[in-house]
Amino acid sequence: MRVRNKPWADKYIRDHEEYIVTDPQNWLGKWQTRFAKKQPLNVEVGTGKGRFIIEMAKAHPEINYIGVELQKSVIATALRIFMDAPVPNLQFVLTDGADLDEIFLKDEIGKIFLNFSDPWPKKRHAKRRLTSPGFLRTYQRVLEDDGTIEFKTDNRGLFEYSLMTMNHFPMAFEDISLDLHHSPENETNIETEYEQKFSPNGPIYKLVAQFKA
Ligand code: SAM
Repeated sequence: MRVRNKPWADKYIRDHEEYIVTDPQNWLGKWQTRFAKKQPLNVEVGTGKGRFIIEMAKAHPEINYIGVELQKSVIATALRIFMDAPVPNLQFVLTDGADLDEIFLKDEIGKIFLNFSDPWPKKRHAKRRLTSPGFLRTYQRVLEDDGTIEFKTDNRGLFEYSLMTMNHFPMAFEDISLDLHHSPENETNIETEYEQKFSPNGPIYKLVAQFKA
């Protein structure tokens, strides 16, 4: 997703340092100090404008959440939406998900959410897909032993690719849905911006997977 530069973003981020981190390496081992309470930590990579992670944080005050996003203009927009009604169990981090193992300790994260990740359809860009083996290795280092990855997409090709890479890793699947919005699980589903936009066009795929010991 390419986004136009937002001239207000830098200052807005600087003015809200309480809720957003732009120097994540300096917070290694100290993330819990940024929250009101020390409690389990879940992370979304590619959080976009933040709808999913903001709603998750409101729905689950007993869990701490971090939304990781690569693009400054996008995360500044998420922050602005969040600041309408901030909650103490959500933080935003401006960084590349590829660096997760440089900013989190081993076994620090309970769940990683990947929602509507960029599909990077060309084979030569496959390494950029957030479910490519390189990213999976990074997630494995920071996830608890029984931690899970929850992945939603409307892109069938990316879903098929992710089933393959996760199966080969190897990971075990706890759940797979080929039409999330028409499954019982949808009752507790929190929709992302992309999900709201693209679900009228076709099914939403979801998987929940765990690394095998
Ligand atoms: N998750 C949101 C949703 O479902 O509405 C946004 C989906 S958008 C297609 C993908 C987002 O992932 C973009 O905002 C993009 O900047 C971000 N992204 C892509 N690669 C990333 C990476 N390596 N680390 C962090 N964010 C990334």
